[in-house]
Amino acid sequence: MNRVAIEYCQDYSRIKEAVDRIVSCTTFPDCQGRTILVKPNILSDSRPEAGITTHPALVKEVVALCFERGAKKVYVGDSPGLHNPGFRGQNCGMDEVCRQTGAQWADFSKSPQSVLLASGERVKVASVLNEVDFTISVSKFKTHQLMYSTGPVKNVFGLMPGLNKSPMHLRHPSREDFAAFIVELFKVSKVVYSFIDAVIGMEGSGPANGTLRHVGLLFGGADAFLVDRAQALVMGYDEADIPILNAARLAGLMSERPDYPILDPADIVIPDFRRISVERPKGLFSSLILPFFTRSRDRRKTARRPAPQFDNSRCIHCRRCVQICPAGALRHDGQITVDTAKCIRCYCCAEMCPADAIRVEEN
Ligand code: SF4
Ligand code: SF4
Repeated sequence: MNRVAIEYCQDYSRIKEAVDRIVSCTTFPDCQGRTILVKPNILSDSRPEAGITTHPALVKEVVALCFERGAKKVYVGDSPGLHNPGFRGQNCGMDEVCRQTGAQWADFSKSPQSVLLASGERVKVASVLNEVDFTISVSKFKTHQLMYSTGPVKNVFGLMPGLNKSPMHLRHPSREDFAAFIVELFKVSKVVYSFIDAVIGMEGSGPANGTLRHVGLLFGGADAFLVDRAQALVMGYDEADIPILNAARLAGLMSERPDYPILDPADIVIPDFRRISVERPKGLFSSLILPFFTRSRDRRKTARRPAPQFDNSRCIHCRRCVQICPAGALRHDGQITVDTAKCIRCYCCAEMCPADAIRVEEN
């Protein structure tokens, strides 16, 4: 269970070899007669070469592997932040993966089910979870403005259909609370195995507006938290800085002794990888004194983060940012204006902007 395999994979034409090698030295689930959900990261329905979504070559290989091992039925599905009716991953290549492999597309927006998390919070998730025996998370190696890195654990956020997601940022505005929420959601996700597509990754202002980076790796393992941890280490983060890993530790879900049968992340850290700067309290005033003068602890925490910057010259007036903003902080009157007092710095707007007109300042 605690094995995380990391293998070199220089380009997507070699993905089958890398998948086979990774699966051969980790605990891959028994697929015989099972119904399985393969869950890629489809943040938005962009072309594979944009590097925002899991590459279809990997998803195709994972589906083929499930069928080779006797799966009865395989679903592929995810739900972007703005889920248009009839969405089936046409641009990002998932529709084609389904056609070529015999997998069935799962439309998460159809009759989502309401589930009660162990934390007592009720959320809507894709009803396909009722039907499947387990889920395989197939995420993308990317930085993330809020969580610093996004991997197989954060990938379960997509199980919540479309606009059900963004209000969660309002309920859990601090990085710590949002990470704890994701860990609770993970518990109902049925994820038993995880891959990370790190052939081409994203650095800088991820998960949508960063810079593509050839990483040349594939990650896999049965413990999603350890796979996530390995990714963070290769990016050069200290694991103690990653909110999801801290939340997992607090929830008693973090195994302390990972085993690396192929590559050890300590040996393949990318020294010049452009990470998101880790937010730290800036001295005595902001950590101890300022809280007494601010309206709430969460407000103080989010206000420390950089606000999104709008470049109206690039804006194509699609209003996606206005639709997704959970705080009602954006207005479109010919151009976009942001009410920084309302903005909770969730960065959903930047993730959804198709014109790269919203940037988050990199520290
Ligand atoms: S303006 Fe952007 S960053 Fe601010 S709350 Fe709205 S979606 Fe989040
Ligand atoms: S999402 Fe981007 S392009 Fe669309 S209205 Fe907002 S800023 Fe403009």
